[in-house]
Amino acid sequence: MPTSASGSPLQIEHLVKRYGAQTVVDDLSLSVAPGECFALLGPNGAGKTTTLRCALGLSLPDAGRITLCGEPVPARARQARMRVGVVPQFDNLDPDFTCTENLTVFGRYFGLDAAAVRERTPALLAFAGLEHKAGAHIQDLSGGMKRRLTLARALVNRPELLLLDEPTTGLDPQARHLIWRRLKQLVAEGTSVLLTTHFMDEAERLAHRLAIMDGGRLLAMGSPREVIAAHIEPHVVEVYGDWPEGMSGWMRDFGARLSARCELSGDTAFCYVDEAGALLDHLSRQPALRYLHRPANLEDVFLKLTGRDLRD
Ligand code: ADP
Repeated sequence: MPTSASGSPLQIEHLVKRYGAQTVVDDLSLSVAPGECFALLGPNGAGKTTTLRCALGLSLPDAGRITLCGEPVPARARQARMRVGVVPQFDNLDPDFTCTENLTVFGRYFGLDAAAVRERTPALLAFAGLEHKAGAHIQDLSGGMKRRLTLARALVNRPELLLLDEPTTGLDPQARHLIWRRLKQLVAEGTSVLLTTHFMDEAERLAHRLAIMDGGRLLAMGSPREVIAAHIEPHVVEVYGDWPEGMSGWMRDFGARLSARCELSGDTAFCYVDEAGALLDHLSRQPALRYLHRPANLEDVFLKLTGRDLRD
């Protein structure tokens, strides 16, 4: 079903959100295309969760226009939310209920009667790989199981758009991979997805397009490949080892001259170059140094645009 004149399940135009004197979302525009997986990346405090909350009508914007599933937000946020699934950053399953009961109770919020939820429950539990836990209480589930149940719960109303806030934070690699497989399956079936994440590999694997934000502002947007091509040199050479005066001495004497950009992080010099030939030639003649030559990736772009300083 088309969700708006343009078919986009979510359009955000010139969104501004302030808390007191702090502008936490600053003139942000983005839209999710039908069937698209879109990732919003940014360090802690960048404004990702606030953007999602505004999109859902849970926080009131100070300026801008939001259309969610064809409905203006916040004016008709409640109606829009009926067609959206949400996986919040922290699982908020009801601890007093079993897995099945959590799905049933959630279904009622969407006006589904008990029979309709009962019919959907086996498929939802199977999707989450929790058929064997139908009657289990929430405290008996692992972290990965809770996440999967939260994802299944978000699908109870067969949403057009799924919003996920850091869906795999705190999960082990096995659990992350399972969530990724499920999200890919949903996207292949036509569900649109907007997710926030700290994990570059998650964005690179899942997202058709992504945006990097910091300080409430968008810094880059496009497909992972487009963002890498537009914002960073194609080659990275990581250099480390023993050098008189340390790697900062090597950077001063050679790194700065042989690369377009050179940054020290810990004991490693990160050299960004359009053409690695001259740098590799120099390194091949330095037995005290070791190096790793690799293509630039999304994490390099992220660190270039948002800096290497810790945020909290
Ligand atoms: P992210 O999800 O990217 O980590 P958030 O959207 O949670 O970022 O937060 C962006 C900024 O807004 C942070 O500086 C945070 O402290 C601030 N903020 C978020 N919610 C509130 C609130 N309810 N009141 C005041 N400040 C808030």
